[in-house]
Amino acid sequence: MPDPRVLIITSCTGEKRFKPDNPLTLDDFRNPTWLSEREAELAEFACPAGELYTGMQHLRLMEGGRVLRDALGSDVLAVEILSAGYGLIGEHQKIVPYEVTFNGMKGHEIDEWAQRLDVHTAIEQRLKLADLVFFLLGDNYLRSLQLPIQTRPDQTLVFLASRSSAKKIPQLAAQTFVMPLSNSDAKRYRYGLVGLKGFLFKQFAKAVVAEPKLLNKVQINPAVFQQVIDGEVEQPPEQLVLQSLLAQGPTIAKPLTIAKQSASRSGKGDFLPIPNLPPAANTHLGMQYFIPEWDDHVDPGYDFCNDRLTPNRDPHADEVYAHQIYDTPNYDGVLVSKVVVDSSKKKRARVEAVGIHQFIRFQGKVMGDCGAFGYVKAAEPPYSTPEILDYYEALGFNYGVSIDHLIVGPFAVPGIREKRYELTIKNAREFFEKHQVGGYTFRPIGVAQGWSPETYAEAVKENIRVGYDYIALGGLARAQSREIIEILQEIRPHLTPKTRLHLFGVARINAIPILRHLGVTSFDSASPLRRAWLGSGANYHTSSSKMYTAVRIPPVDGHGVRVKRLIEAGVANRDTLKTLEQRALRALREFDQGELGVEETLDALLAYDQLLELPRDGKADPAEQAKRRVKHERMYRELLEAMPWKQCDCVICKEIGVEVIIFRKNDRNRRRGFHNTRAFYTRFQALLEKLKQGWKPSTS
Ligand SMILES: [Zn+2]
Repeated sequence: MPDPRVLIITSCTGEKRFKPDNPLTLDDFRNPTWLSEREAELAEFACPAGELYTGMQHLRLMEGGRVLRDALGSDVLAVEILSAGYGLIGEHQKIVPYEVTFNGMKGHEIDEWAQRLDVHTAIEQRLKLADLVFFLLGDNYLRSLQLPIQTRPDQTLVFLASRSSAKKIPQLAAQTFVMPLSNSDAKRYRYGLVGLKGFLFKQFAKAVVAEPKLLNKVQINPAVFQQVIDGEVEQPPEQLVLQSLLAQGPTIAKPLTIAKQSASRSGKGDFLPIPNLPPAANTHLGMQYFIPEWDDHVDPGYDFCNDRLTPNRDPHADEVYAHQIYDTPNYDGVLVSKVVVDSSKKKRARVEAVGIHQFIRFQGKVMGDCGAFGYVKAAEPPYSTPEILDYYEALGFNYGVSIDHLIVGPFAVPGIREKRYELTIKNAREFFEKHQVGGYTFRPIGVAQGWSPETYAEAVKENIRVGYDYIALGGLARAQSREIIEILQEIRPHLTPKTRLHLFGVARINAIPILRHLGVTSFDSASPLRRAWLGSGANYHTSSSKMYTAVRIPPVDGHGVRVKRLIEAGVANRDTLKTLEQRALRALREFDQGELGVEETLDALLAYDQLLELPRDGKADPAEQAKRRVKHERMYRELLEAMPWKQCDCVICKEIGVEVIIFRKNDRNRRRGFHNTRAFYTRFQALLEKLKQGWKPSTS
């Protein structure tokens, strides 16, 4: 019997190696002309599909494939990826990053889109040349196949599917084996459900290498697959790989970008369970929140009615920061990066003249760092340690962070990562030694970078050995909570009762208890602030986990690209847009005063809002406009019915009322961000208090 031709059909994953700011979207895929233009824009990120995805399932699967190919030759199997953007594609096809997934689509949307992509026919065609086929597909991807498909009795199909999907797989001409997988299976196989299918395939691949005839055996009797797997689970569990670090793109954005999943996860109230480990030795030091500063101030005299800034104001001297608006600051400290201070010569000169505290008008603790994201692409940081020590001292920082180099994205590969790791450790050592003898008065913080729990722990140990009692972990802003926790578990035993531990760029309310338990004593994040104007659905936070969208009423006059494009595309002329814009503003203000009902207000808001859907190929798509209307109607109705700005007792909501909920210009959006930061800080403080009283989320 000849060896079977093995084919794997696997789903695309949201995690991708490159994360440009403007990945392809569903709209791009809808229009072929537009698509090729957009692909050209993203050409620098193009890579073979097999290498683009960095989700757990995909990585494990490809590792399994490599194991098989190394042992049995490169032709032993073929991998096809079911992409929700591109349709069925071979692993070698070059594609660019996109943000489209069948997950989250409604049933009929999956059916329609799968039809457009011709998934069903493509699968049938591809299957003709295969003898043994493994399907590693999630529910919605499986649905997109539109089973049943045409097969032959001499073929064998193995489906790894959720229990609910498994039931729906129909009788086919081919011999079919379905392995249903659930959370309890994930536990049994000691691997997370998300990547489980890939992991199991890899286990199978290892078994095949030991006994190549297994492929024939499974072809004859696919139930053998499960027997092999069940015999294979005694192997040691996989070592953690920091996927989200590797997944970061070559362009590390300003710290403004936030990980979508972490932000939405932090919206949920359920806390991550505390592992069954003793608390770190330093938990009595408490926990502090720092906000990264990036010129976040507003015009105190802004005229909301006429949308006018105070005439002749100085954009820095005459504006106010959040901590000048609220009685007490909504953070324990401020983090100021050197790249931000150096953003203009004028700014740098002003800061040097008055010192950092006076410049940001904040008397609390100010931490300084170099802003490693600003020089991530450089071979070495552009600063020297003596220069940075003097800089922190001269500007009056309370804390100064040693010069580090990020180990992320393309810089987390072997060969480069070790250099950056050593350089970061060497800098920390030099920074501490020179600080000791130089008579500096600020408190030094040593940075630990790494690419695995072990390397991070080593770096922390080394910093403690050097003499630091304050250490910061870098490079984890986009890491998954699970990965951060793995790292902290490795670090925890090394922390002394005096060691403070800072986590750069991470604020996740649901992770606070476990972070504290594992020894984190401070962290920083601008995420609550930035959420005010990033994305929709969670722009306005509350004292609970509930979040609301803001109402988009962009100004027709001004420099808005969106409105300009709408007019160019002939969606509506300037006068019409202006009338609708003003009607929307008026309606919302009348609603706030109790002079207009929910329905009338919604009508006015949506009449303008639905036109804001950007035309793609130069033409407005009524279907897209209608979709936007449905989605926004739901979110706006929820907002109007709850009127959360009336329940907030913060001075911003009290003073500007309904204006805070309007997504329009800096002076509203930033104020909403300030309010969000306050909401976050209030929740954080309450949580700390509860933890101090001995409350604990469940243990795992
Ligand atoms: Zn408020």
